[in-house]
Amino acid sequence: MSDLTKLSLSEAVSGLRNKEFSSREITQAHLEAMEQARGLNAYLTETPDKAYEMADASDAKIAKGEGGILEGAPIGIKDLFCVDGVKTCAGSKILGEFTPPYESTVTAKLWKDGAVMLGKLNMDEFAMGSSNENSAYGNVISPWQRAGSNAAIVPGGSSGGSAAAVAADLCLAATGTDTGGSIRQPAAFTGLVGMKPTYGRCSRYGIVAFASSLDQAGPITKTVEDAALMLGSMSGFDEKDSTSLSRDVPDFVSACTKSLKGMRIGIPKEYRMDGMPEEIEKLWQQGTQWLRDAGCEIVDVSLPHTKYALPAYYIVAPAEASSNLARYDGMRYGARIDGDDLNSTYERTRAQGFGEEVRRRIMIGTYVLSAGFYDAYYIRAQKVRAKIAEDFKKAWEKCDALLTPTTPSAAFGIGEVSDDPVQMYLNDVFTVTANLAGLPGISVPAALDSQGLPLGLQVIGKALDEETCFAVGGALERAARFNAKATRWW
Ligand code: GLN
Repeated sequence: MSDLTKLSLSEAVSGLRNKEFSSREITQAHLEAMEQARGLNAYLTETPDKAYEMADASDAKIAKGEGGILEGAPIGIKDLFCVDGVKTCAGSKILGEFTPPYESTVTAKLWKDGAVMLGKLNMDEFAMGSSNENSAYGNVISPWQRAGSNAAIVPGGSSGGSAAAVAADLCLAATGTDTGGSIRQPAAFTGLVGMKPTYGRCSRYGIVAFASSLDQAGPITKTVEDAALMLGSMSGFDEKDSTSLSRDVPDFVSACTKSLKGMRIGIPKEYRMDGMPEEIEKLWQQGTQWLRDAGCEIVDVSLPHTKYALPAYYIVAPAEASSNLARYDGMRYGARIDGDDLNSTYERTRAQGFGEEVRRRIMIGTYVLSAGFYDAYYIRAQKVRAKIAEDFKKAWEKCDALLTPTTPSAAFGIGEVSDDPVQMYLNDVFTVTANLAGLPGISVPAALDSQGLPLGLQVIGKALDEETCFAVGGALERAARFNAKATRWW
């Protein structure tokens, strides 16, 4: 039965609907695979009882000819999403044994459409990181390895547990969140599809906040069609999130096979970075050629403020984080480390409860928001953010979507970059711009590098035009015919 874990989400849903196998069977196959893969540290919490209960309910529905678009399909949930009655700790110790008494809107929608919950997935603490080395529960290990080496590789971050789990067939698909690249970068590092929708497309209600003006939920999946199917379920207006957009959810699945004839694809020249590995440049050119072959017109565009995106992001995101994380004071949530008085209890709880990177972000954020530096840093970064959004608006006069690499390199080894935060932040150079401008972006696996590790191409679309991202992503997927899988060693 273990072959059931190799199916794509769409294949599994149709197999379930046609009663080729039951939800209990495919759920069990995944739970067994999870048990054998504990060394990857992808799951923080496994929920087998809940999984079987949901699977049986799905089987009963399917027997009656009922059920939603994901009926019976087992998936994994990033530990940033609150799931009623299931421990949720955002990869942090400060949340202790926090078990939310409510459900995030995104997970509620997935369950309503019939998805089955396998467990909560490891992640960088509070979604801050690009390698999963910032998890308070130990790093995730990628199922991928460099050819001829058994050195442990990072799965990317912050949704690294999600990416590792999907890549190792420990769930059919997983939720992720993306504040600066945390869906697209881990997807690229593990040979998967990652989709960050337009800001406001998915409700943030019940998702532990990192930087509220940038955070978006989205899927990490094996195929573009799977991403479309899952995003369709996750999306939609929610009155519980004041930034949620009141728009109908288009048919993302049918967008994946739309013709690209006459579509204009922009190549932003500022994304051609100094020192970018030749392999990335080559892949980008290959992607351009694939789209030309699919009938697109390729145009050069300029996004002149790109070089300020990363610095602006690393001001805005920590500023919002320092404010969002102020609530973890040992009083109402999770862990408390008692001190001699109230202030020392706060101090001890926060000093011991947060990891190093989170403390660094809180300090940066507090600094850039402080009275003397607010104008010089925070206000300035907000102005840069507006300029970046304007750059995209101008580009849309010349093209319908942009093609870029997803990351400036393939995945790196555990410990290779972790002692240099600035080097780590450079991972986000091609992804943060879409967050700053609120635009949708998809990463599609496109090739293996010379060491045998996956590389991704990114398509950025206009606000609310996920359909074009899926159309271009689908075309790239068909052209690239990427079907490499990590060789099982775990
Ligand atoms: N790597 C980026 C950061 O550390 C992005 C994280 C994310 O998108 N959640 O902030």
